[in-house]
Amino acid sequence: MTVVIAVLKEQAPEERRVSIVPDIVRKLTKSGYEVRIEHDAGAGAYYPDDLFIAAGAKIASGRAALLDGARVVLRVQPPTVAEVDQLAEGTIVLGFMNPANNLEAVARMRDRKITAFALELVPRITRAQSMDALSSQATAGGYAAAVMGADNCPKFLPMLTTAAGTIRPATVLILGAGVAGLMAIATAKRLGAVVEAYDVRRAAGEQVRSLGAKFLELEINAEGRGGYARELTPDEKAKEQLMVSTAVARADIVITTAAIPGRKAPVLITRETVATMRPGAVIVDLAAESGGNCELTQAGRTIREHGVTIIGPRNLPARVPFHSSQMYARNLESFLALLVDRDGALVNDFTDEILAASLLVHGGAICHGPTRDLLAGEKP
Ligand code: NAD
Repeated sequence: MTVVIAVLKEQAPEERRVSIVPDIVRKLTKSGYEVRIEHDAGAGAYYPDDLFIAAGAKIASGRAALLDGARVVLRVQPPTVAEVDQLAEGTIVLGFMNPANNLEAVARMRDRKITAFALELVPRITRAQSMDALSSQATAGGYAAAVMGADNCPKFLPMLTTAAGTIRPATVLILGAGVAGLMAIATAKRLGAVVEAYDVRRAAGEQVRSLGAKFLELEINAEGRGGYARELTPDEKAKEQLMVSTAVARADIVITTAAIPGRKAPVLITRETVATMRPGAVIVDLAAESGGNCELTQAGRTIREHGVTIIGPRNLPARVPFHSSQMYARNLESFLALLVDRDGALVNDFTDEILAASLLVHGGAICHGPTRDLLAGEKP
């Protein structure tokens, strides 16, 4: 039987991405899938319905027509409880699930025997690189942050030698040189700024220098499990704050991306440090949604303190929706390949390492330990 894949129009405010693009539709229909797209699902990312139709998709107006007989549902943002209620038992849902902040919908998926894979749980192993949606979307976010910083900065970024005088290049400081940070460094370099960066993982230094930026050295190496950072000790935190505040005070743009999985973002820029910054300086805080790397950041808002613009953007990848959707769709296409056997039928065991790690809910049970523990504590 033909496997029907349904693609939803994202409902979250400000979400402009879509989980599939016409090129991927073409590949999936060639492989024998039926792809159904909710009317206008790609409009926000500039993939109109007619491009999807030309690629072999069917357009459905209305959720009932879209989901009727659909075995697999693709999405970007986690489903709401109401959206879970629209799904038939046994439907497979792929997308970001943000389980810790979405427990009610996770519990509903369990109760309705939905199978859900959370893309943020895909392990960061070599074989899973093409499915790594955290990385693809962080790349888009890092780019958007650098452009946003430049757009809000009252200065040119490059050095200019003109008849009206010589302009010194702006200084951009990136705190946290993971995937988003490295993309922000590369983008700020291309715009001509002098770029400095810092990360608690010493291994990041080589990557920062390879992009032509200066790596700020501190005697801390806080490389934790799986290549992520660990939390710093109080003494390490004090040393870090001192060095960071000196670098922040001389920067025109500061882009912060520091995160520790499963924890509140570390505060790297205090209220006092902001007061030492140059007038007109800009902070773009990518960690805004997980508490902020700057003490003054307000998620979803831009504020001004001591002449410094502090931006706490939400969902930066949605600001480059065309390409972030393209990358995300490619991640999903790779992931889908794990879900079918050689004859194109859906697999019914999820023993593959990548599937097992990213399986959130299946057959009426929560398969992800930390989410199960959270639900046991909250009993929704
Ligand atoms: P992330 O979003 O969890 O964190 C962003 C950065 O913040 C990290 O580089 C982290 O070291 C840094 N950070 C945390 N606390 C800090 C502090 N107090 N001060 C300064 N910086 C701090 O990380 P990410 O971007 O998702 O990537 C983390 C790691 O995973 C990197 O080593 C990356 O190379 C690796 N990775 C591997 C693969 C793969 O092998 N497939 C894919 C993607 C990322």
